[in-house]
Amino acid sequence: MICPYCSKEMKKGVISGDGRSKVFWEPENEKLDMLDKLIGKGMIDAKYSLSKFTIEADYCEGCKKMIFSTNISNSIIN
Ligand SMILES: [Zn+2]
Repeated sequence: MICPYCSKEMKKGVISGDGRSKVFWEPENEKLDMLDKLIGKGMIDAKYSLSKFTIEADYCEGCKKMIFSTNISNSIIN
């Protein structure tokens, strides 16, 4: 993938974590409640196993930015 900020080639990789909780995105100054999280509102499209989650992400070394896909619906953004 080409970085949309500087137009250089991005490196493929994964973001990973311990997998004890799912990964969510929340709009700035807004909190997702328990029900929101239960129905998957704001959930990042990660792969989960027993002890780990991974998210495929492209990384730009120049800009220090990453791009990854989500399955966030428009309903989360008012
Ligand atoms: Zn860049």
